[in-house]
Amino acid sequence: MSDAPEKETVTPTNFLRQIVEADLTSGKHTTIITRFPPEPNGYLHIGHAKSICLNFGLARDFNGRCHLRFDDTNPAKEDVEFTESIKESVHWLGFDWGEHLYYASNYFEQLYQWAEHLITTGKAYVDDLTAEEIRQHRGTLTEPGTQSPYRNRSAEENLDLFRRMRSGEFADGAKVLRARIDMASPNINLRDPVLYRILHASHPHTGDAWCIYPMYDFAHGQSDAIEGITHSICTLEFEDHRPLYEWLLNNLPVPHQPRQYEFSRLNLSYTVMSKRKLMQLVQDRDVRGWDDPRMPTLVGLRRRGYTPESIRTFCERIGVGRSDSWIDMSILEESVREDLNERAPRAMAVLSPLKLVIENYPAGEDEEFIVANHPQNAEMGTRAVPFSRELWIERDDFMEEPVKGFKRLSPGQEVRLRAAYIIHCTECIKDPAGNVVEVRCTYDPETKSGLPGAERKVKGVIHWVSAPHALDAEIRLYDRLFALPNPSGDDWKQQINPDSVEVLTGCKLEPSLKAAAAEKRFQFERNGYFCVDMKDSTPASPVFNRTVTLRDSWTKR
Ligand code: ATP
Ligand code: MG
Repeated sequence: MSDAPEKETVTPTNFLRQIVEADLTSGKHTTIITRFPPEPNGYLHIGHAKSICLNFGLARDFNGRCHLRFDDTNPAKEDVEFTESIKESVHWLGFDWGEHLYYASNYFEQLYQWAEHLITTGKAYVDDLTAEEIRQHRGTLTEPGTQSPYRNRSAEENLDLFRRMRSGEFADGAKVLRARIDMASPNINLRDPVLYRILHASHPHTGDAWCIYPMYDFAHGQSDAIEGITHSICTLEFEDHRPLYEWLLNNLPVPHQPRQYEFSRLNLSYTVMSKRKLMQLVQDRDVRGWDDPRMPTLVGLRRRGYTPESIRTFCERIGVGRSDSWIDMSILEESVREDLNERAPRAMAVLSPLKLVIENYPAGEDEEFIVANHPQNAEMGTRAVPFSRELWIERDDFMEEPVKGFKRLSPGQEVRLRAAYIIHCTECIKDPAGNVVEVRCTYDPETKSGLPGAERKVKGVIHWVSAPHALDAEIRLYDRLFALPNPSGDDWKQQINPDSVEVLTGCKLEPSLKAAAAEKRFQFERNGYFCVDMKDSTPASPVFNRTVTLRDSWTKR
């Protein structure tokens, strides 16, 4: 058996780290500045974590800095609820932007001035075509586009119209500002892309100051330039936008020339990652909210019991490259399993309780066992676990007629009660319908755990909870949100796993768990890793979420 995996202290290299290293060595940059640029139109998901770990990780490892910049150019979809949650999730993941919190909307006036600059130099024009007409004029991958009849307006006319757009004279969609580049370019992004549109909408930051808003392509690179970003890292879909990114920087009097690099986005099996789809799951109540423990959002993973460390390890492990690939959900699950194996204290909990009565144990008496909280880490201490004549055991740990190879309790057989005694099963009691409702046994006081000679071999060890001391709890077991590895197509919602959550009530916990604070994580022996639900759990009625099982049971199904 190999030792527990070493904690990764060194981030594996990747092509972006090599670029940064080379730029620092050559003196091209003395400090690197990266940014994480979320649109505040949803909650962050595990794909964003990849980008956060990459951007903040580069800044951390090369003594640079990373900005958090909200790409808030679309007031119609934005919400302060999203902004706040994004900040909280970045902090939770373990990263900090310090004083470098920015909003693209901070730059609206500068962006506007630069738009006027393009107009003045003949590189932008106001177009009266409708969105649909613009689409029709754009051409295809094999055919060039056609020029708008408004393309050759004079700079004076364009400037006048653009100022009137700003002052609110025109209705939404009546006009746009377009870059004047090349309608025949093989790159469709260069076929006179739209830079500004009219949108009479109130903005969370700028209120009603603006009724024209810059498009992503016009805001993004220029924001990078204003902030002095050295390495502007985005996902591969933006590769074809890079010529436009560079065209704009080359044609504007920007204070700095950032460079864009692309890497492949994270695709994770058995879930969806587009914010539009996540939003739809929330709105259609397929899940209980953005923080439903089945969601791939950072708030969902947190509520499920994932640690920030496990997500960072996952992001390092999957690496950063330039080819699109799918990562199996089991890799994410293995990261949290490994982390919790080291850090989570152990406890006993019975999920599906069956009464066990020890006939020769004195009624009304009890005793306490001092049990280690972690089998390999003595520093995690011990706790007292009460024991008495009546216990709860797992229903699955008893079989009246054992199948071949069954090593746990059945009439005439012995097992060890974890950290306590060896018991011998005498019989079981059934209700009129024939269901086993109670198991009877005797115990051997000489086999008390820790006593000399108590090591007598038995085939099985089972966990238990003393019935009069037990704490009742609700336990939620989760499975993958989708039944298929790549939920896609128009009927992607039909691929939701109907059994993605199972709620167990009347579970029995050892009493030490009574004081467990929200978000506290445990290994419930033999049952998996669990954490106290941060929303629904109360001391009077505890609720636990299963983060992950002890072993990967999925790949063996
Ligand atoms: P979605 O497509 O889910 O709506 P988005 O790309 O529009 O996501 P943004 O808020 O614009 O979401 O993303 C912020 C940053 O996170 C961007 O730099 C984007 O490239 C990166 N990002 C988004 N999704 C992923 C992913 N799956 N893997 C890696 N990085 C991602
Ligand atoms: Mg985006």
